[in-house]
Amino acid sequence: GGLLGGSVLLLGLTTGCFLLMLSTILKQKKLSEVKNDFINNMTHELKTPLATVSAAVEAMQHFGALNDPQKAQTYLSISRNELQRLSDLVEKVLNIAVEERQTLTINPEPVRPAELVSELVTRHQLKATKPVHFTVDIAPSDSVHLDPLHVGNVINNLIDNAIKYSREQVSIAIRGHHDDNGGWRLTVQDDGIGIPKNYQDAIFDRFFRVPTGNLHPIKGFGLGLYYVRQVVERHGGRIAVRSEPNRGSEFSLWLPN
Ligand code: ADP
Repeated sequence: GGLLGGSVLLLGLTTGCFLLMLSTILKQKKLSEVKNDFINNMTHELKTPLATVSAAVEAMQHFGALNDPQKAQTYLSISRNELQRLSDLVEKVLNIAVEERQTLTINPEPVRPAELVSELVTRHQLKATKPVHFTVDIAPSDSVHLDPLHVGNVINNLIDNAIKYSREQVSIAIRGHHDDNGGWRLTVQDDGIGIPKNYQDAIFDRFFRVPTGNLHPIKGFGLGLYYVRQVVERHGGRIAVRSEPNRGSEFSLWLPN
């Protein structure tokens, strides 16, 4: 029995080792593929706005568009939109770079989340490219200990996503309240395209995007929710999602307080 038991154990160990190696290789392959996608995406996202703004500036300087106020106005607003996109992108990448170097330091201070959220909502209403209907339910007197800069970025990312991953229009409900466990909970709920069950854990991983076939119709880098999770965890909090495809998603963030 001893010999057989030993062989079985050995076989088991070898198989286990092999499976572990295989899964490591598979994971690495996936990560390198994902990185390739990221670089392709990034190259496109950086070059397109730069080319557009260059063309608009050239048209105004050399092709007389400056003398045609209506044309000039069009070129200027195109340039402005593209520059806004570029600066959003640069901000996201910088946030990740900061996180990568472990220098994401959280400086909590007492903040009124109602004010923070209302500012962000106004900003989104100004730049929205489709009808967005916001409902906000946060007591104006609520005060929470958090890093306003990073948690502001977090809520911003969640609103951005709610708008991006929806159809022609979207309703977004943002609710915040203290709970009985000495914490504060914020939910951002949308009625957008939703997330299939099997991807709901992965969306918080770096570079992960829900696959949609060959070309992703909605641009992004899979970094936003990774940053969200880092910020929430550095606060000692938690982030979770509940979602149903074609119905919508609800991101729920909990911070100890
Ligand atoms: P990005 O939007 O740049 O791809 P994120 O890390 O913010 O990166 O999101 C990761 C993925 O999670 C997205 O690509 C998308 O597939 C999915 N996702 C995030 N938020 C939502 C949402 N509100 N509704 C549906 N899908 C979402």
